[in-house]
Amino acid sequence: MNERHMHAILLIKQRILIMRLKPFIFFFLSLLILAYATFAEANPNTIKPFPPFRIAGNLYYVGNDYAASYLVVTPQGDILINSNGAADVPMIKASVEKLGFKFSDIKILLISHAHNDHDGGSALIKKETGARYEVMDKDVPVVESGGKADFIYANDPSMWYPPAKVERVLHDGDTVKLGDTVLVAHLTPGHTKGCTTWTMPVTENGKKYNVVIVGGPYVTSDYQLVNNKAYPNIAEDYKHTFQVLKSLPCDIFLGAHGLYFGLDEKYARMGKDNVNPFIDPQGYKQFVAQKERDFYTILAEQKAQAAQIMVK
Ligand SMILES: [Zn+2]
Repeated sequence: MNERHMHAILLIKQRILIMRLKPFIFFFLSLLILAYATFAEANPNTIKPFPPFRIAGNLYYVGNDYAASYLVVTPQGDILINSNGAADVPMIKASVEKLGFKFSDIKILLISHAHNDHDGGSALIKKETGARYEVMDKDVPVVESGGKADFIYANDPSMWYPPAKVERVLHDGDTVKLGDTVLVAHLTPGHTKGCTTWTMPVTENGKKYNVVIVGGPYVTSDYQLVNNKAYPNIAEDYKHTFQVLKSLPCDIFLGAHGLYFGLDEKYARMGKDNVNPFIDPQGYKQFVAQKERDFYTILAEQKAQAAQIMVK
């Protein structure tokens, strides 16, 4: 065999190898594309900043277009409600600074509930500001384990986040005071065991308004309301939550996600006429009533399914 002959054989062998590998290369590329699509869906990169603004009195919006964060400004320092995802902390910081406040003035950190889109950034915010972390009793094991003590997401690493130590354990009805501002922590459980609805009064043009920041009354699609071993009284807890939400006086309606209270639409109306669009007691009542109806619909469906399984 001469050199040219050998070279020709080598070329043919290479081509056969590429042809054999082709399906695998195609399969591998498809996997990559699929992985990227899934990643993009769940990734905080799809979350966009939202313009920070003053809602009313000493209460400001510093969250993004998906998860809400609130800054309560007092002469003795500030309170931040919700740290959002770990990757979103720079967005909160930029929002606080854009409003002319200092990130390091945050003295107390609170959350709506122990899910990674509301408490994932807590460890980082504590490190950067030295804020005291105050969390409702039943959410404490979850935030301190970085989501590994959650009743449903304990074994789902995509829901984990950096754990953060809690300095003060809150109980239903506890108050959080800073300067002349007093917030009340209302236990509204079900979505998480320690889900918290925050209330506070604000003063605007000499008038007092009751603010309600709803903690999270949604029943997530993978939630088991019947025969839940990890959370046996989940349905009773949701029922209790709706009683609490219906009892709270509300002028300014806010929540853990902008979606709850129509952030986009209300922000667009801000300053357009003489009424603050966030003053929306009717919208609050409708939202709570709708979420309660949704809960009872899902509960009835799950009860019917459980009864069918029993018959089988
Ligand atoms: Zn949640």
